[in-house]
Amino acid sequence: MPPVTETADDAVTPVRDFATAHEATFESAYTRWSPLVYTFALRSLGRVADAEDVTCDVFLEGWRDADAVDDPSALPSWLIDIARARVEHFRSVREAHQGMPVEVPPGDAFLGDHLIVADQIASLEPEAQRAIRLALADGLSHQQIAARLRLPRGTVKHHLQTGLDRLRGGNAEDDATWVSPPHADRDELAVKALGEPTFSKLDRAHLASCEQCATYLRELTAAVKEGRRAISVSILVRPSARVWDAIAAELHAPQPEPAAGDKAPRMSGRRFLVTVAIALVIAIIIVVGGILGWNALAPQ
Ligand SMILES: [Zn+2]
Repeated sequence: MPPVTETADDAVTPVRDFATAHEATFESAYTRWSPLVYTFALRSLGRVADAEDVTCDVFLEGWRDADAVDDPSALPSWLIDIARARVEHFRSVREAHQGMPVEVPPGDAFLGDHLIVADQIASLEPEAQRAIRLALADGLSHQQIAARLRLPRGTVKHHLQTGLDRLRGGNAEDDATWVSPPHADRDELAVKALGEPTFSKLDRAHLASCEQCATYLRELTAAVKEGRRAISVSILVRPSARVWDAIAAELHAPQPEPAAGDKAPRMSGRRFLVTVAIALVIAIIIVVGGILGWNALAPQ
């Protein structure tokens, strides 16, 4: 992925040229997050054509009006917010057309949140993903998962910790500063958060007196709850290739000349790219970090 940096030259680059130059980055972002947006739209509207239109609109709007998002970690929820507004618009158009309210599926209010969690699970390294699915969806113990996946128990525990930590919104930095002992082992805390009674007497005594461990366990337990709710909607659907074709066609369409005296060119597309580039780098670091961490920690 080419680095996206802001330079004085960029400030006068027409949006059309800029779009062409950085389309690869934008396409990477689209590839990464379009299943989240498309699945949300499809589940909300129930029609492929409408879901494709919403997905197309969301990414074009993201391209044009990204001033609201500076924090790359907020990108998925920001995309869902745009999608939610577009879905509402499609519903109202449909209601006006058919003259009656469109039925909203139960649990719809939390669909976006659940899909963001599902997307986090889907972005885990494959083996960790299988382990976390078996724990959250099928309720298997770490021993059962180890037997099913033919992996050492310690490896499974670490996969579960990695997965739950991602759902908690944790980062590799936290892992680096965690010292065990005196603190309880993070992998053991993850297994405990899943409801397994594997904690040693020593760990129980430490947990009762350590706020840091107790907080981490609480957060993992909340992640288990969120993950179990989200796992039922965990199948993310990739939109058909025609959605990206429509977006690319729009990017290549001639842009209107700025009016005389309009000094501010539209720079939001670049802002969006800077944000998605950082978010993509973070996603890659998380996955690579997870794999390296797992390799380092896996029992021999
Ligand atoms: Zn502790």
